[in-house]
Amino acid sequence: MSGPNKKEYGFCPDCDSRIKIKAPRLGQKVTCHACGTVLEVVDTSPLELDWAFDEGFDFDELETKLEDKKERSAQREEDFGLF
Ligand SMILES: [Zn+2]
Repeated sequence: MSGPNKKEYGFCPDCDSRIKIKAPRLGQKVTCHACGTVLEVVDTSPLELDWAFDEGFDFDELETKLEDKKERSAQREEDFGLF
């Protein structure tokens, strides 16, 4: 028997950061706090994470948001760099 407050650790396949998940379940989506990659729980014992490129997850929307963010910070750099 394991404790009542079981905590699991997985590792980001992208940057190897340790990711803590309380009560992980298969198919659960988590975001790596270090690199922002969206991951999915593919195994629970031991806990294993993989990139979440599944159908049913709106990855396009997420990418659009990330692109938007990148563009904004690039623009800001230009503002300071060019003038
Ligand atoms: Zn990561």
